[in-house]
Amino acid sequence: MVKRTEKDKTSVQGRIPIVAILGHVDHGKTTILDYIRKTNVQSCEAGGITQKISVFTVAIDNDPSKRITFIDTPGHEAFDLMRVRGGNIADIVLLVVAANDGVKPQTVESIDIIKHSSAKPIVVINKVDLPDVDIAKVKRDIVNEGLLLEGMGGDIPVVEVSGKTGKGIPELLDLITLVAEVEGLQDRGKLPEGIVAKAFVLESVRDKTRGNISSIVLVTGNLCKGSWLGYSKDGKVIVERIKGVISEDGENICDLQCGCGGKIIGISNLIPVGSEVYILEENQPKLIEPLLKSKNIESETAITEDDIFNSIFDDQQDNKDTQLNVVIKCSSQGSLEALRHSLEKIKKDEYKVNIVSDGVGDISNKDIEMAKLSKAIVLGFDVGMDKSTEEFAKKNGVLVRTYQIIYKLLEEVEDALDMLSTPKQVEEEIGNGVIKMMFILSDGSKVLGCRVKEGILKRDCKCYVVRNDEIIGEGRIQSVRIGKEKVNEAKQGEDCGIILDTDIDCMEGDEVYCYKLSK
Ligand code: GDP
Repeated sequence: MVKRTEKDKTSVQGRIPIVAILGHVDHGKTTILDYIRKTNVQSCEAGGITQKISVFTVAIDNDPSKRITFIDTPGHEAFDLMRVRGGNIADIVLLVVAANDGVKPQTVESIDIIKHSSAKPIVVINKVDLPDVDIAKVKRDIVNEGLLLEGMGGDIPVVEVSGKTGKGIPELLDLITLVAEVEGLQDRGKLPEGIVAKAFVLESVRDKTRGNISSIVLVTGNLCKGSWLGYSKDGKVIVERIKGVISEDGENICDLQCGCGGKIIGISNLIPVGSEVYILEENQPKLIEPLLKSKNIESETAITEDDIFNSIFDDQQDNKDTQLNVVIKCSSQGSLEALRHSLEKIKKDEYKVNIVSDGVGDISNKDIEMAKLSKAIVLGFDVGMDKSTEEFAKKNGVLVRTYQIIYKLLEEVEDALDMLSTPKQVEEEIGNGVIKMMFILSDGSKVLGCRVKEGILKRDCKCYVVRNDEIIGEGRIQSVRIGKEKVNEAKQGEDCGIILDTDIDCMEGDEVYCYKLSK
């Protein structure tokens, strides 16, 4: 049990705790955060899935010493990547498990993330307002997955809530501040002189009027307008002056306190999600070079235009047709990363998705050109395309599909791979004959007595029975006999008896065309 000591009671809040929320889809993460935030973000989400990671800070009882920052982590498995990062950035992780549904695949996955994270877990059993829920069983199942709850052999706090009615939410918020107090959160690590703050990028979007915007959460130090922002892009360290900082609601703010989230506007590049960024007093890239290099975030940088062109040309040379080439466009850097991650995981035998180009923003003529060059299809998630681009795509025979729900997109890609991996069989005629007579054997099978006119009639091959140039039936040749002898095939000029696997209403004079299937 987490207990407040006398010292805890009197201590002022250290850093504002950063809290991430994990759990299976539909277990109520958005509803709980929504209740806490007291706004209704849930209703504007396509498909009911939170599609963007964002961050907000609340003050409990309007008490500035009791503030909590929540990272609003997306729920669908397509967002594994962000959830993992969310779990690493946070001080406290809430694991939401619906009382009526219990431990599900993403619960298990979240428990795994929690086990590998330094963040303190709190288990939140949600939907306790529903009738006939077996909370004790849910807890046992969680313990069986290796999270030792308090009162059940461990010390992980557990709280029962209803995101719908708000029951238990004040207790949850109290528990979060208590855990934060007991943990005595401090700035994470000391920063070298000249560097005033460190933050994580949770989301990067391209905005028509404000330029590139990155949602960040500050884990060390404070950020003031007019400071310098340092980050890594394509392996290069870039430092630029911060043009403005806005709150999640779009209000201009002068500074951002440690543990809080905000948005930096007017950045010259889209900074990859999950990157560490630094706030500097002066334009001194040398100061952060060692910090950024050691994190090896270069591999996470967005694909460059050169890369795209190179990959198209490489791809054309060694395309063995075992890949589905795609160009992907998303509304934000976060969803793009998640989509890329999910697409790369889809495999069907040796068939896989090959992303030839990706980007943030609406689908443009350039994307269509890319797709045409690389024989790719264009997939858009939460983006549009103007009429002229639509026409341009049609003219160039490029397939464009847009989606509002990420798993619909993934489903369709899986279907497309299924189609690709099913061998395309071609029928090749190997011979034909004419039916001279018919008779029925004692076991009831119908024998077609044929004279082979051209090529061969072969056992196990597909055949069509044709009358007056029209197919009247099709089947497979089950057996071929010449006289009494069973043979594999009968050749041109030979008389044979064949039995088909289907009963076709044949007549003397009908023709039998025999085919083999080849890839
Ligand atoms: P998420 O995918 O984990 O973010 O789940 P949502 O917050 O979108 O909730 C999924 C569904 O469960 C929605 O229909 C919610 O109205 C419902 N829900 C969430 N919390 C509760 C709760 O405490 N009680 C009940 N009865 N329903 C809830």
